[in-house]
Formats: sequence, structure tokens, C-alpha cells
Amino acid sequence: MATKLGFEYQIIRSKRKSVAIHLRNGQVEVRAPKKIDPKWLEQFVESKADWINTQLAQQLKNRSEQYRLADGETITFLGRKLQLQLRIASRNKVYIEAGRLCIEGRIEQSDKALKLFHSWLKEQARSYMMPRTEAYAARLGVEESLQQIRFRKTRSKWGHCSSKGIIQFNELIMLAPPEVVEYLMIHEVCHLVHMNHSREYWKLVESHCRHYKKTKTWLTENGHRFWFDTVEQEKPYLNLVPVG
Ligand SMILES: [Zn+2]
Repeated sequence: MATKLGFEYQIIRSKRKSVAIHLRNGQVEVRAPKKIDPKWLEQFVESKADWINTQLAQQLKNRSEQYRLADGETITFLGRKLQLQLRIASRNKVYIEAGRLCIEGRIEQSDKALKLFHSWLKEQARSYMMPRTEAYAARLGVEESLQQIRFRKTRSKWGHCSSKGIIQFNELIMLAPPEVVEYLMIHEVCHLVHMNHSREYWKLVESHCRHYKKTKTWLTENGHRFWFDTVEQEKPYLNLVPVG
């Protein structure tokens, strides 16, 4: 439905009892009960137009800031800027050399390069974060409670600590500056002491990470960059030169 509001929206009617607005990939979806008055619904959407436009602009900005896995693009690794170099080769290999992150292998298809990159990143996260997380746990005297450290790319959280003592990290955090990675490790290890976000919990975090508020804000403002745009890769393989 075209509108004067600055965006278009689609109405999805179902058995639901309330009205909800969903924004996904720049699309506005209005979910409403079957028997709702169309006039009322139109006014409702109109009353939310400012909020919708702000959200759409934010989503668009976030998407444009996402890192892209393409030759010549720049990404960060532990806060350090690296230029991507993608090359077709007979052997899979990912390595850092002279300010570049080189991804080589059978990467004729764009998702192959991303797969190689992600498995490399997971390895890096394991070797960097596991010993440090264990050391923090020892420092807090909770090494007995720490059962396992896992790495998983979850959309909703950068880290998680279960009541069973299993700490999970999103390996994409390795693209953030070291102090942010440190904050995340401390955040999760402190949950082995307090399974909540109480005042005591944050006090403990602060005693091990004095600038945690700054790093926390940094992550909120910049974390979206680390999600590689896999849906829309406009120029994934320009400048590809075969080697090996
Ligand atoms: Zn937490």
C-alpha cells in the first residue's frame, strides 16, 4: 500500500488480538486482527510514522556499515584494520600478512570465502579467548564452576553464561578492539559469581574492567558492522586473481 508517509506497508490480518508493526529488511509489515476497522488501522500506522521512519533509516545505515567480504575491502581484527585479499587457489588458507587478511582457496562461490573466513575466525577466537576466560575465572576463584567455553554465531547475544557453567561467545567479537573482547569475557565470567545483572554483579564487573561502560556502549553502537552482508553482495569477486 503506497502512502504519503514516506514508506509503504503491508497489512497481514490473522486471528491475533493486537496490532504490531514489524520492520524487516526495509519492509514494513502491520500485523492486525481480522476484524479491525481499516480506517482506525490507517490512523494507527500514521501515528507511528515518525518512529517507523527513524527505525528504517537506522536499519539502512546499519546495513551500509556492515563489513563486506570482498577483495580490497577493509575489516578489523582485534581492532586492527586489515585489507581483505581474496585469491582463488588450490589449497584453503587464511592468514594475516603485511596489514592484509588473505583468504585463499576454492572460493569461486562467495559463500565459500565466507565459510573459510568464519572457520578461521572461530579458531582465532578459541586460541585467544579460551585461555583468557579461564584466567579470569581463576582470578575470581570460580574456575571450578566453569564447565565449558563454546563459540557460536548467535544473532541475539555476544555472549551467554548458563547456570550449568557453560559460557558461549560469538566469535565475531574478535573483530572488536581488545578491550571490548576483554569486557565480554569478564561480563560472562562474572555471571559465574552472580547469575543476574544486579548491582553487585555490575560492581564486580567494574572491579575487573574499569571502563566497562565505555566498551559496552561501543559494542552497542558498532557491533552491527561485524555481520557480513551475505544477502546482498554487490561486488563479491571483482579484482579476483587466481594464484597457486
Ligand atoms: Zn549478562
